[in-house]
Amino acid sequence: MEGEGFEKADFDAQADVYVINTCSVTDNADKECRQIVRRIQRRAPESLVVITGCYAQLKPEEIAEIPGVDLVLGAAEKFNLPQHIKELSKGDSTKICSCDIEQVNGFHSSYSINDRTRTFLKVQDGCDYNCSFCTIPMARGKSRSDSVANVEAEVKELAARGVKEIVLTGVNLGDFGKGPNGDKRNEETFFELVQVLEKIDGIERYRISSIEPNLLTNDIIGFVANSKKFMPHFHIPLQSGSNKILGLMRRRYKRELYADRVNLIKTLMPHCAIGVDVIVGFPGETEEDFNETFNFLHSLNVSYLHVFTYSERANTRALEIEPVVPMQVRHERNKKLRNLSYMKMQYFTQQHEGQTRKTLFEGHAKNGMMEGYTDNYIKVVVPYRGEWVNEIINWKL
Ligand code: SF4
Repeated sequence: MEGEGFEKADFDAQADVYVINTCSVTDNADKECRQIVRRIQRRAPESLVVITGCYAQLKPEEIAEIPGVDLVLGAAEKFNLPQHIKELSKGDSTKICSCDIEQVNGFHSSYSINDRTRTFLKVQDGCDYNCSFCTIPMARGKSRSDSVANVEAEVKELAARGVKEIVLTGVNLGDFGKGPNGDKRNEETFFELVQVLEKIDGIERYRISSIEPNLLTNDIIGFVANSKKFMPHFHIPLQSGSNKILGLMRRRYKRELYADRVNLIKTLMPHCAIGVDVIVGFPGETEEDFNETFNFLHSLNVSYLHVFTYSERANTRALEIEPVVPMQVRHERNKKLRNLSYMKMQYFTQQHEGQTRKTLFEGHAKNGMMEGYTDNYIKVVVPYRGEWVNEIINWKL
């Protein structure tokens, strides 16, 4: 947008255009969106308000009914944002530009740079899986990805801009290689991509964001174990430790495969951080099933959990599964796993006490302090030192 003559303003400043990027994973996307639009209307009643993102793709009519919204852009149209804004004037009736998700084609690469030391680079979008609780495929479309050559060119560009660490992201990252229209089969793979990226000069660190356990192959794990640039850190969604629930969720692995992956990682890289996504209160999850998940996670050598409370989503198969778990029970289970996560994190951090690890410090100063992350994702907070910003320092934990 900056290339089209727009200038970025702080959200709390008075701007001419406000763009809200909605999420369909958030429980209260609709309510939150209403509140934000109301705030904008109070501050800048003449401004144009554009809503885009996954929720706008899933429920365009609902969003268009929010007073003060001028334009709703779906998954394909969001990439033509500047053009749409130029054609818009305040007072027109709310315009919806959204097509069926099946028609969404093409891959739009992007990265966030801002003042971040760490940059998030999107290399894949959409998903061909059909997990029964998930609306993401409906909001983002089929699995598409960039080519290895394009990603390579972007990474070189980022290196030239002084970026030290890149986090590779995607909706289903391990499924990289389907091409911009999602019709290619294994011509390029995620494993090939990481091998190419390793050789690029200038970037010192890569992280692989969330990757499905069935796609995190032994080859990738072995590669990371020997890599100088791919950090010893994985985030692997589990969702449930009960094979019965994994089946109902239509996940593509069993708990045994998950345990094998974790064991291999920890054998090759005992210092590796492993984060786990888990959903509690999925329909049909009995006390016994939940305990199975709890005990499984307890026994696994992982570092932290991201715990999600299951919540119903329109047009998903999970709505047909019974019995529904009462909300209060879902919250209790969430709390139990969050406590477990806290203990796992404490244990992981304590294991590294006294070690010296390479830590990349980030730019923002908060109350005179600055933050950094070790290679294995332990957060370090130290008094602010300007000369350490965007530098990798040997730090004794
Ligand atoms: S793999 Fe992830 S994005 Fe794809 S359907 Fe399953 S939960 Fe959703």
